[in-house]
Amino acid sequence: MTSNRRTFAIISHPDAGKTTLTEKLLLQGGAIHLAGEVKARGQARRARSDWMKIEQQRGISVTSSVMTFEKDGITFNLLDTPGHEDFSEDTYRTLTAVDSAVMVIDVAKGIESQTKKLFEVCRLRNVPIITFVNKVDREGRSLFEILDEVADALALDVSPQSAPLGMGGLFTGVLDFADDTVAKPEGDSREYRGKREPLGDLPDDLAEEIELVREGYPEFDLEAYRNGDLTPVFFGSALKNFGVEELIDAIAKWAPPPRPQPAGEEQISPERDEVTGFIFKVQANMDPNHRDRIAFMRQVSGTFKRGMKLTPSGFGKPIAIHSPILFFAQDRELADTAEAGDIIGIPNHGTLRVGDTLSETNKVRFTGLPNFAPEILRRVALVDPTKTKQLRKALDDLSEEGVIQVFYPEIGAQWIVGVVGQLQLEVLISRLDAEYKVAANLEASPFATARWIKGAQKDLDEFEKYNRATLAKDRDGDLVFMAKSPWDVGYQQEKHPELVFSATKER
Ligand code: GDP
Repeated sequence: MTSNRRTFAIISHPDAGKTTLTEKLLLQGGAIHLAGEVKARGQARRARSDWMKIEQQRGISVTSSVMTFEKDGITFNLLDTPGHEDFSEDTYRTLTAVDSAVMVIDVAKGIESQTKKLFEVCRLRNVPIITFVNKVDREGRSLFEILDEVADALALDVSPQSAPLGMGGLFTGVLDFADDTVAKPEGDSREYRGKREPLGDLPDDLAEEIELVREGYPEFDLEAYRNGDLTPVFFGSALKNFGVEELIDAIAKWAPPPRPQPAGEEQISPERDEVTGFIFKVQANMDPNHRDRIAFMRQVSGTFKRGMKLTPSGFGKPIAIHSPILFFAQDRELADTAEAGDIIGIPNHGTLRVGDTLSETNKVRFTGLPNFAPEILRRVALVDPTKTKQLRKALDDLSEEGVIQVFYPEIGAQWIVGVVGQLQLEVLISRLDAEYKVAANLEASPFATARWIKGAQKDLDEFEKYNRATLAKDRDGDLVFMAKSPWDVGYQQEKHPELVFSATKER
């Protein structure tokens, strides 16, 4: 049986057109009926949830969501990745839950920093990529320049599937190489509304450019694409609707159905009968009327049915999933069944944690969802010292969501939070205040980074005995070495070859 699920993310640099493209994809899929609705709804939702003030102030998307739409019998699950570079950790986790990605680049700007970083994450996991070169209705770089830049910057073969006929003021449509038709602009807005014409005569220089683009690059090769060695490239304009149809069709036709997922030595196939999945994200207070938290589970295998009992690996006892949520264009829908590749939102009160495996037998453990060593460490100082209990609860909750990491030093009373990016600290302070009514300040800490320590219990005990001043426990009670500098890490590692000082922790 081949699956009709396509679970993917869009990676891009801010402003390249991800939001606009998302809208158009949802529109094509019939999930929403008015362009502009994604942002409009998003804003309405944000305005209601005042806990995410930063999102409004900075105009960036801090939270990530899931959008499901259908077209021609294929179910597309689009996972939104937060675009800001400070959120690499969250973004990384989201990318562990997809089978492929669409990379959007601005035809005038080419590969930008954030695109490159996200691409590297995809490459680590061999996530195949379809490239969408956006904004060809405006002036941009030449086709060769863009194609060669993608090929060089990312060390990928590029296989163009279409080409704009002119750009900016000279733009007269997009030529689809598959059938030699041209999608034409119409009306005052010069958008694509479905009008296609056979390719006629072109001016000589344009004809020559197109010919060279068609001949000068590799043919599409499904295996090379699926291995992450080749990217098909579509040119288009999300704003004016060019190339969107072709992109959806390409995802349907080429993007991989749900892939097997690593679980230690094993690979769990989507065909396995047992329902399994892993939590890649936990988000609190999505709906201000329900102070719940939603754990996002990427289903890996089996057919999920509402009410089913699954055992979370971090909890150990089965829980009945009575009100799972499927995300249909940002509206919550009750799910009755779900398949491998689907994302299910599971409301809970803290039972489910990022990295948890859920399964029927409790025998599977998915691997590869790491915590990253924090690069910024701060002490949390309470303004009102009687609020210690609330602070502890808040820090535990927020670390469980993956917003921050928390470290409780073995000596001394001041708790330490660790983040990968500065913006996470602002989110922390804002949410402490808004959700937990705790006023706190962040102060410098003597530590520069942290390492999880692994080893035989007796070696750990021995190390602990002599290094209490630099040791802390994380939320799970695991031992963490707080280092004053990266050099410090190297020094301890050399002195203690029996222990492993790890920059990531896999749950
Ligand atoms: P995001 O930050 O990647 O989500 O980008 P947005 O979708 O918000 O787009 C950034 C800006 O580029 C907005 O002003 C869009 O209207 C504009 N934009 C997006 N796609 C196109 C396009 O195809 N052509 C033109 N001319 N502008 C576009």
